[in-house]
Amino acid sequence: MYELGHFIGGRKVAGTSGRTANIFNPATGEVQGTVALANEAELAAAVENAKAAQPAWAATNPQRRARVFMKFVQLLNDNMDELAEMLSREHGKTLDDAKGDVIRGLEVCEFVIGIPHLSKGEFSEGAGPNIDMYSIRQAVGIGAGITPFNFPGMIPMWMFAPAIACGNAFILKPSERDPSMPIRLAELMIEAGLPAGILNVVNGDKGAVDAILAHPDIGAVSFVGSTPIARYVYATATAHGKRAQCFGGAKNHMIIMPDADLDQAAQALIGAGYGSAGERCMAISVAVPVGEETANRLIQKLTPMVESLRIGPYNDDKADLGPLVTKEAQTRVTGLINRGVEEGATLVVDGRDFKLQGYENGYFVGGCLFDNVTPEMDIYKTEIFGPVLSVVRAKNYEEALSLPMKHEYGNGVAIYTRDGDAARDFASRVNIGMIGINVPIPVPLAYHSFGGWKASSFGDLNQHGTDSIKFWTKTKTITARWPSGIKDGAEFSIPTMK
Ligand code: NAD
Repeated sequence: MYELGHFIGGRKVAGTSGRTANIFNPATGEVQGTVALANEAELAAAVENAKAAQPAWAATNPQRRARVFMKFVQLLNDNMDELAEMLSREHGKTLDDAKGDVIRGLEVCEFVIGIPHLSKGEFSEGAGPNIDMYSIRQAVGIGAGITPFNFPGMIPMWMFAPAIACGNAFILKPSERDPSMPIRLAELMIEAGLPAGILNVVNGDKGAVDAILAHPDIGAVSFVGSTPIARYVYATATAHGKRAQCFGGAKNHMIIMPDADLDQAAQALIGAGYGSAGERCMAISVAVPVGEETANRLIQKLTPMVESLRIGPYNDDKADLGPLVTKEAQTRVTGLINRGVEEGATLVVDGRDFKLQGYENGYFVGGCLFDNVTPEMDIYKTEIFGPVLSVVRAKNYEEALSLPMKHEYGNGVAIYTRDGDAARDFASRVNIGMIGINVPIPVPLAYHSFGGWKASSFGDLNQHGTDSIKFWTKTKTITARWPSGIKDGAEFSIPTMK
């Protein structure tokens, strides 16, 4: 048993609110630790530390700020095994997948090493008589990040790396389900040379989130989690005058055209649908084969693959996927599978009764495959966030395209085809943020931006890439005139360039 508090002012501190939450081992169902849940006063203390440290950090030249991330990247690599183990033990995902979680965050840290270049301003010489005009990007001040359970390494880094590289101080409020990893990241940032107070981790639940949203000194809030909370955080943060970017849930489709390489498509569906037990916002949860023949052949290929998925605890190095994160998640996912059966979908592979010897109390759900799912069904409309793939049969390409187009969510989508024309048409017309062409999980790399459309995202700017630099800085434009030798009188009308 361990007790986790917060990380404020460059060190670990115990919680003082008297409220805690249990941290479970998803593979066994046992409580392995507790995490403190911060109150308003603890959040305010973190903000005070951030406020005291931020001006000097913003005044540190960008090359020096970049060097902290160079060292941090090295520390992440040096400690990779320990980090993956820490992450998996609370999340439940396999060790390989946990390393991917860390590496996808590390890649954004590598990206922000370019901060001297990324944050350069613009300059226009001779914008008017003796006038130069220049725009600079200055840190917002104090930023905050509220993160979900499913990527406890990657998503915190997606937020704090660009925010801190831009000269902000940062308050991270991680998921209370797997909070060890973010505290460890903060320790490593200090080891890498970050001044105390620039990165603070405040653990908590709704109380801590509400305190962040209402705090007058926090200028920008980044949120990743489920859509109802993303909507709430966006509305509340902006009502308090903060800039906000809030990323929500998903229902990602994969269209399989009749000319696609079906072996390749089936492999892709297995990895993208069942990897990390389906607990990924970019998981493929709906397969849309075009034409009856494609559908029949696809089901034939998928069925034995789903039946033979290897499910185990994180340290089983042969496991394809682990358990779900909590008992509630297991109950919710099983309930949705029951709902699909009631609604008349065909449950081709039923993983509801999956049991693993020695891990009977773990939150496991076996891989499930539904056929004949229709757009009216709850299992189609709802994000299941479990190892469940739904097959919706489409008669033709236009019908297939209309499915993701009409869906509430718009995070990611993929098309499998050998026809460049169809792929190009699809990418151009579909109203979704991230598109894969023969790529099942099209998560953009660190130097492009990540973000969905429709109910998957609220706010204008995406995560990482150049959008993140814009989000964590404010533009200031300076018009300077050095009128040596020129004398003119007062001007009462607005100056123009006529
Ligand atoms: P969640 O919405 O339950 O929690 C996210 C964060 O919000 C946590 O830090 C949590 O403590 C906090 N929170 C929970 N309830 C709250 C409330 N009532 N008021 C204020 N704050 C609250 O999400 P989760 O279950 O941790 O994560 C899974 C969800 O995240 C899925 O819907 C998934 O699609 C989504 N997700 C989206 C992306 C993306 O980039 N679009 C990435 C990863 C995960």
